[in-house]
Amino acid sequence: MHGRIAGWAIGAMLAMLAQAVDASTLIHAGRLIDGVAKDARSTMTIVIDGERITGVEDGFVQPDDGDTLIDLSTQTVLPGLMDMHTHLDHQNNRRSYMERFTLNGADYALMAAYYAKVTLNAGFTTVRDLGGSYNAAIALRKAIERGEATGPRIFSAGKSIATTGGHGDPTNSWAEILGGDPGPADGVVNGPAEASQAVRQRYKDGADLIKITATGGVLSLAKNGQNPQFRDAELNALVATANDYGFHVAAHAHGAEGMKRAIRAGVRSIEHGTYMDDEVIALMKKYGTYYVPTISAGKFIAEKAAEPGYFPEAVRVKAAAIGPVIQKTFARAYKKGVTIAFGTDSGVGPHGSNAREFVYMVEAGMPAMAAIMSATSVAAELLEETDNLGSIRAGRYADIIAVDEDPLMDISALQNVVFVMQGGVVVKDETRRKEF
Ligand SMILES: [Zn+2]
Repeated sequence: MHGRIAGWAIGAMLAMLAQAVDASTLIHAGRLIDGVAKDARSTMTIVIDGERITGVEDGFVQPDDGDTLIDLSTQTVLPGLMDMHTHLDHQNNRRSYMERFTLNGADYALMAAYYAKVTLNAGFTTVRDLGGSYNAAIALRKAIERGEATGPRIFSAGKSIATTGGHGDPTNSWAEILGGDPGPADGVVNGPAEASQAVRQRYKDGADLIKITATGGVLSLAKNGQNPQFRDAELNALVATANDYGFHVAAHAHGAEGMKRAIRAGVRSIEHGTYMDDEVIALMKKYGTYYVPTISAGKFIAEKAAEPGYFPEAVRVKAAAIGPVIQKTFARAYKKGVTIAFGTDSGVGPHGSNAREFVYMVEAGMPAMAAIMSATSVAAELLEETDNLGSIRAGRYADIIAVDEDPLMDISALQNVVFVMQGGVVVKDETRRKEF
């Protein structure tokens, strides 16, 4: 008797559970850009179970009992956007150079948590974070995974890897008494052995990928903004060791020689790419290297270079020269068929205005749909995450956004994201309610 009652109770519980599991969320999408298809489709239904998309159907499918319906029938619905170049733990300002001496790891972690929220609210549900301090972005990634913080899915490089005095040496221009001699753990390497050690340190730190500074850069307090800063043997050691741990390598580069060395060594992406020449473009196509333009950062530093006293003089000179070039480089690279993945370098420019990059891309000749794909399916390819991210297709995470206007007509519509869902959970909903 007992056994039979227990059996019945378990059966009823299982039925209830099945019903609960069966309950889906349906999104009615007025217009759907799915991240993969070349054209938008009208009047579609996205079916979501738990954190994943389970189906995409024609027409407005009516919900069953217990289902949740989200009405985006007057909106354009897209995959969550993906920014392949951010620095979540900071935002450039007039005090940036002094802040290295006044801020601690906890300050960076709290800034990262704040800027992550700002980024997610702007519709960016995934970021590749290309270098920061105190591994704050790694800690944040873990907190987000545990549900203790809100933010995009983070793929973090931890601290970027440079050479002594190179772009990313954290002690550039410091007095000797302060600077010391930073090593692989601090992201400064000389020679192949230290290059491998730095990669292994990042594995130990919990990074997801490796960021190197293949040439000089704008914001470092050093003279040259574009010279090559690694020897071939160092680059080969970096990439080979990274591959051992399943990491890809992202290479910051402004000058052509540093890009050529990095591409031949096998890096996955070139960041900024300011002075890429035809040989670089040919090499990128041959090796399948992605280009992450960061036009936004170029515009930002060019603007600030004109503002007296914003940058130290050594930086201002480089910012004024390099800033205005990036958009033209992007136009040329796109025309010549380089694969372009969306990236802003937010943290140099302000977080949350990531979508302004789309406007710059379209302004430079890229069709709106191609620009959107650079921040969805192409970004997912860069990350080797197409089974999970970058499209509104069955099986992918339900990372879904919506805008009121049609971004194919006016790309700036993406600067006003009104709805954000991440892993099936609505994190923002400011859709215009229909009045009858
Ligand atoms: Zn950067």
